[in-house]
Amino acid sequence: MADFSSLGLSDWLVRQCEQLGINKPTPVQEHCMPAILQGRDCLGCAKTGSGKTAAFVLPVLQKLSEDPYGIFCLVLTPTRSLAYQIAEQFRVLGKPLGLKDCIIVGGMDMVSQALELSNQPHVVVATPGRLADHIRSSNTFSMSKIQFLIMDEADRLLEQGCTDFTKDLETIMGILPAKRQTLLFSATLTDTLQELKKIAMNQPYFWESKSETRTVEELDQRYILTPEKVKDAYLVHLIQTFTDQHDDWSIIIFTNTCKNCQIITMMLREFNFPTISLHSMMKQKQRFANLAKFKASVYKILIATDVAARGLDIPTVQVVINHNTPGIPKIYIHRVGRTARAGRNGVSITLVTQYDIHLVHSIEEQTQTKLKEYPVEEKEVLKILTQVNVTRRECEIKLESTDFDEKKEINKRKQLILEGKVHFFFSNTPLHVQSKLEKVLSHGLTAL
Ligand code: AMP
Repeated sequence: MADFSSLGLSDWLVRQCEQLGINKPTPVQEHCMPAILQGRDCLGCAKTGSGKTAAFVLPVLQKLSEDPYGIFCLVLTPTRSLAYQIAEQFRVLGKPLGLKDCIIVGGMDMVSQALELSNQPHVVVATPGRLADHIRSSNTFSMSKIQFLIMDEADRLLEQGCTDFTKDLETIMGILPAKRQTLLFSATLTDTLQELKKIAMNQPYFWESKSETRTVEELDQRYILTPEKVKDAYLVHLIQTFTDQHDDWSIIIFTNTCKNCQIITMMLREFNFPTISLHSMMKQKQRFANLAKFKASVYKILIATDVAARGLDIPTVQVVINHNTPGIPKIYIHRVGRTARAGRNGVSITLVTQYDIHLVHSIEEQTQTKLKEYPVEEKEVLKILTQVNVTRRECEIKLESTDFDEKKEINKRKQLILEGKVHFFFSNTPLHVQSKLEKVLSHGLTAL
């Protein structure tokens, strides 16, 4: 069995790992770290919770200690929370170096970020959109000498889906040196990554977790077949059972929309469950605060949308409940990856309606695991059905009386402006001016 020293890691880093309880390399670390230390490009496919962050953080810190300068390494990642977690691992493991890191993500002050970038941090961890904004708007920093470009959750960065990073990535690549080490890490191996492996990288070292399934073996994957109208009653019943049986359990519940997330949070609070939410309509500060409270076990139940599904590192979660069946197996894998992390046991329960059965089949195909039915006392669920549904309706009415929907609309518009997809005009702008504007801009116009 390999240890960190035999993989080529310096004594000071081995000691640093030991202090943090990281004593034995995980498979992705064992395989990828020697190749990275040898200077090779690397494409690592490993499950969530497999230790893939440390697999690149440790070699980068070792190389940095041999020739420290800034900016030495750029890490790109699709979500803000993941950026914070990666920076945290750099900071903790790189403490003896006095590592200077800088986090560049949306929702934070541009000016102070620009200042931090100009102070030549050793490591920059960024989401592509905000970093590209900085490149376009200032020339106070240089990335022309970076040694490492790392893309975490590379599948999502490179795919052109609902969040398309293509333009931002082009801008970023434009200021990076051709001579560098490129490391891509991903939970799933997509066609895009396969292509990249063949053409764009410098004969990369490639490693994929041998395990047939892409979800961890310690995870007990279950489902409950339920009509839509009975879902919430099952949810309340499940939480009741778990909290009755285990004092120290925490639960993450994934939902499909921000509004649903909010309503379920309100509803569970009515039942006195210690619940907190995490969704994209909350300010970044609020998201961090809620996450911190959940991590500190002030709240035992976190209701989240898929914004939170990626990259959250919450080692103590025992249960993941999917309030909706994810339509894309990859999303399912990321959601259930929040439990059974780093060798701990966990259970995931997916609430499935009769219309979702085909989705379960494609999840099973992708994970090569059959979901097992979760046994529930149906009688107990039916006893609370009316009370739960009435409570939900009351919460819906309460939410409708706030400006939640309006805020959502404003957020959507803000996003479109940021992406440069829409230009706004005031509704009292005369029609002939609007049509002129539309011709010049070749974009749609939306009234404010
Ligand atoms: P990741 O897959 O990078 O999200 O890592 C999941 C968790 O495993 C993090 O909390 C790491 O600190 C932890 N971890 C990483 N490497 C090891 C290791 N070799 N032994 C024990 N825990 C680890």
